[in-house]
Amino acid sequence: MAKNDYYQTLGVSRDASTADIKKAYKKLAMKHHPDRNKGDASAEEKFKELSEAYEVLSDSSKRQTYDQFGHEGMDSRFGGGGGFTGGGSFNDIFGDVFGDIFGGGRQQSRRGSDLEYQIELSLEDAVAGKEVKLKIPVNINCHDCNGTGAKNGTAFRTCPQCNGTGQVRMSQGFFSVQQTCPTCGGRGQIIEQPCSTCSGTGKIKKTKNLSVNIPSGVDTGDQIRLSGEGEGGGPGAQPGDLYVSVRVKPHKIFQRQQDDLLCEIPVNFTTATLGDKVIIPTLNGKVELKIPNGTQSGKQFRIKGKGVKSVRSNSTGDLYCRVHVETPINLTKEQKDLVRQLDNSFRKSKSKHIPKENSWVDTIKDFFE
Ligand SMILES: [Zn+2]
Ligand SMILES: [Zn+2]
Repeated sequence: MAKNDYYQTLGVSRDASTADIKKAYKKLAMKHHPDRNKGDASAEEKFKELSEAYEVLSDSSKRQTYDQFGHEGMDSRFGGGGGFTGGGSFNDIFGDVFGDIFGGGRQQSRRGSDLEYQIELSLEDAVAGKEVKLKIPVNINCHDCNGTGAKNGTAFRTCPQCNGTGQVRMSQGFFSVQQTCPTCGGRGQIIEQPCSTCSGTGKIKKTKNLSVNIPSGVDTGDQIRLSGEGEGGGPGAQPGDLYVSVRVKPHKIFQRQQDDLLCEIPVNFTTATLGDKVIIPTLNGKVELKIPNGTQSGKQFRIKGKGVKSVRSNSTGDLYCRVHVETPINLTKEQKDLVRQLDNSFRKSKSKHIPKENSWVDTIKDFFE
């Protein structure tokens, strides 16, 4: 289908400023707006065309591409059927240009806002999953007026000042300007009797009691979406969603890294020297870990499958235990004597007992020679 030239569509010259383009779009879009031309498919088509032209020409880089390559350029650069990307950005443009004009009028039929609620979980709960009870303050649609703000939900009247258009023409000296109707605030309708429950706002505050199933394996930053549990929308519109964001509290023993758990295990130097079995805590009971003789500080042991079961796949992470060899403190005289004896034995011995220190001494020797 051949497309009209964007500049012609908006009725502006090729060197029009962004402000002129916005002004032209505003004027034409107002005229062809679907709300004003109910059931008129050609108006809707025209409106889309205008919005598409505006989307491109109001964006300096898109405009440049268009100036250089025409519609061809737009098609190849902005994916498929033309530069206009559809519903989402359509609304963005709309809000951008008309936010000041339609104001509350459009808000009324909008989907309710999404809410975010943060919960803190212990690592154990995050790993095992948990049912959490939440009390969430939300603005929901008033029951008595169905969110309309009018008493009994029916007492609407077409605004007499603007005849339901939401806009009025005001003369100021030489100028005639289109403005938001002051009587109805742009809604096109007026409420004869405001609902007494919500004072005409259509919304009431409520504390929602929700029970949320937190799946096992969640981690900090994960979100659980509760569809339709956000703020109430305008009359006839969908409520928003509630996003429950998870934050996992730091744990005394374990650190989480994706689905793996890390922990540090302090080991006496005698255990590290002679080797022994030590008891390791995991999130589901204790396990025995064999420390081989001659284990150095910082050595990491992997215990397979003792990490976290992933919330996204069937896999389970591992537990990594890092050995921290401790130097004994508060020795008795007898213990000190034993260590001295050991030390003397090391000095006399021909073989090397302290791997890093020995090689370090050799390195220093080489350095000075
Ligand atoms: Zn009400
Ligand atoms: Zn009005």
